[in-house]
Amino acid sequence: MGRGRIGEQSPRYSYMLNPHSDVRLSKCPKCGKLTHLRKFALLIHIEAWGLLALGKTCRYCSRCELIMVHQGELEAELAQSFRRIAPEVIGKAYMVLGTIEKKAWQEGLSGRGQPPAKMLKHVAQFKKVYTLEYEPGGWYPADQGPRKS
Ligand SMILES: [Zn+2]
Repeated sequence: MGRGRIGEQSPRYSYMLNPHSDVRLSKCPKCGKLTHLRKFALLIHIEAWGLLALGKTCRYCSRCELIMVHQGELEAELAQSFRRIAPEVIGKAYMVLGTIEKKAWQEGLSGRGQPPAKMLKHVAQFKKVYTLEYEPGGWYPADQGPRKS
């Protein structure tokens, strides 16, 4: 990605944002195998806020180690998280940066949140980031960096 690594863990997992509300990704768009649901702790950078750890159930292909996030669902959960604490943040640009080790994330939840610097020890940036594109010929993953705004 051409910039310094985020987090102190080795890069892990690939990430795909699914912007299509009518596509459920019950099959992996890369390998065609059935996906399953798995909960991840995602590290998200949000403009005017900073880093946020969000527990989110995602579609996952264990063969490709690919995490698929439904954009509409993610944005609804973000909006819900911020509705009470910082409504002005809703609708700002955001970027999903990587995953946080579940154990560290859960400890953060019970202990009123670890400071971001401490949390970064447990963060693994994604190896690859894709956006699901639609073409008349079918679905395919496009190699892309995280969206900037
Ligand atoms: Zn796959």
